[in-house]
Amino acid sequence: MKPGKELLFCALGGSGEIGMNVNLYGCDGKWLMVDLGMTFGANEYPGTELVFADLDFIEERKKDLIGIVLTHAHEDHIGAVPYFAQELGVPLYATPFTAKLVNEKLDEAGIRHEIKLNVIDHLDRFELGPYGIRYVPLAHSIAEGNALVIDTPYGNIFHTGDWKLDDEPLVGIPATTAELTAIGDAGVLALVCDSTNVFNPKASGSEGMVRKSLLEEVAKHHGKRVLITTFASNVARLQTLGEVAEATNRRLCVAGRSLDRIIKAAKGCGYLKNLPEVVDFDTAMGLPRGEVLILATGGQGEPRAALARVAENTHPIALEAGDVVLFSSRQIPGNEIAIGRIQNRLAARQITTVTDRQAEIHVSGHPGRPELEEIGRASCRERV
Ligand SMILES: [Zn+2]
Repeated sequence: MKPGKELLFCALGGSGEIGMNVNLYGCDGKWLMVDLGMTFGANEYPGTELVFADLDFIEERKKDLIGIVLTHAHEDHIGAVPYFAQELGVPLYATPFTAKLVNEKLDEAGIRHEIKLNVIDHLDRFELGPYGIRYVPLAHSIAEGNALVIDTPYGNIFHTGDWKLDDEPLVGIPATTAELTAIGDAGVLALVCDSTNVFNPKASGSEGMVRKSLLEEVAKHHGKRVLITTFASNVARLQTLGEVAEATNRRLCVAGRSLDRIIKAAKGCGYLKNLPEVVDFDTAMGLPRGEVLILATGGQGEPRAALARVAENTHPIALEAGDVVLFSSRQIPGNEIAIGRIQNRLAARQITTVTDRQAEIHVSGHPGRPELEEIGRASCRERV
């Protein structure tokens, strides 16, 4: 394949499958990578814990790769960075929260000083070879979900990353309809966008609505210990749970390393400023049962996470008959059996579980069809 005067798009991973997003743009022989993710669990590949996209194509052309732009800090967008960024040998670009989590990974891998990670803390265009790039904040189930407007000599690409439309996202300020329309007015050659919820006929729903439902749900369980499990990286949800704890006169207790890590990273970037002070396990257990709200990892059934250990009664946080576990999450396909096992253990001990089937205590971070239609309309110059 000879580089020509042309603009190319090539997804090495993440299109037609869930996870391991790795996208390439090629312009006049120069390649730009957008995201470098991985997949966990690998239901399709038993015995495998981590799955990576096949990078042979770009490794063979790495002299023409000019940078890796990261849209947001979910593992399926950044998870492969510590494994491949050093070999690819090009600078990385990320907004502050994403950069913080990437740097932690690079630290863990002992390669922080080998890799140039540029923190983009503004929404102005920056240049990378033939590409002009601008971050466009969109709502998602993590802080700093971003789309990219990539301008090239051939036209503009609107690369959405992961996103949803949310009038009440609680964390961050997503681009307004007017701002999205302005991107369309400037001309979009191609909208590059996908959604795991493309078959959902309804919009994804708002974090603001979840806050209301969680507050109502926790308030119902007066005098009981309540444990809530959610995706650790959903900073808006963590903020909500802090507010729910305060509003229901409960002290907040956090169980699980990934929650500690995200809370620290989020605070370091100016989020979660009003999160109430967290109490340790001993203090939590010493409080009257109805005065504590426990936030725990393990909602996907991970056997070593806090919730699994609480269910087995091998964690310093002990629940008793009548206590309540709220799953403020969805079951990621493939995890049903592991989650079911934990729910059965809880049920056997007469601990009540509430999931998003019983109460509106979770919304997805990915758009349903009405939102896909709307972004298509906004970014299309010739509107219908
Ligand atoms: Zn994501």
